[in-house]
Amino acid sequence: MQATVLYGPRDIRFEDRDAPTIMKPTDAVIRIAATCVCGSDLWPYRGINAVTAPTPMGHEYCGIVEEVGSAVKSIKPGQFVIGSFFASDNTCPHCHHGYQTSCQHKEFVGGAQAPLLRVPLADGTLVPTPDVPPDDMLPSLLATSDVLGTGWFAADAAKVKPGMTVAVVGDGAVGLLGILSAKQMGADRIIAISRHEKRQKLALEFGASDVVTERGDEGVARIKDLTNGVGADAVLECVGTQDR
Ligand SMILES: [Zn+2]
Repeated sequence: MQATVLYGPRDIRFEDRDAPTIMKPTDAVIRIAATCVCGSDLWPYRGINAVTAPTPMGHEYCGIVEEVGSAVKSIKPGQFVIGSFFASDNTCPHCHHGYQTSCQHKEFVGGAQAPLLRVPLADGTLVPTPDVPPDDMLPSLLATSDVLGTGWFAADAAKVKPGMTVAVVGDGAVGLLGILSAKQMGADRIIAISRHEKRQKLALEFGASDVVTERGDEGVARIKDLTNGVGADAVLECVGTQDR
């Protein structure tokens, strides 16, 4: 099969690779229906994170189950499934407390930018939909693989509660879905920190009440102004850097 592989900064190749197979009884192999590029792929692509070996790309995915290992119980061939970028058993103590990305048996899932993908710990990692969805739903379902879960987790970790004022740093897919999540959790006021007009529009559509375009100390001062000197009750960092 043909797949994308990152060799180094700005060196991505589309090349022949062996199709994945079931390696452990808890694995599944899925046929990819939709996949995409994640913001976190850009760090090694730009040379900010080192690439130590050729790395198959793609960790956001959904598709149809082709085959499952002998120990897989809930996932069946033919099902449409959406998976996470960390495989988790969903049964260990960390998973039970809602930290599936710290699962005792976690494995990073990579190589989704290919026709077929091996997913470890299929029962804990894959979520089936009731039916095979129509093609026009694929982009929305793909968004639940990483960016919605990540944005939701940011809001959950920041303990967003009804009535709160929430500031969201970053207006990429995770930031925008962090806004949507904070709105779902009942935030009263959501301040989007954004400089892109198109994304500001989406932010407002997803539930933002204010847009702040300033960054750094100016941005902090602007948010203090907007909140009568109090500041935000919860802050969602949705960029992945220490900048503010
Ligand atoms: Zn676990």
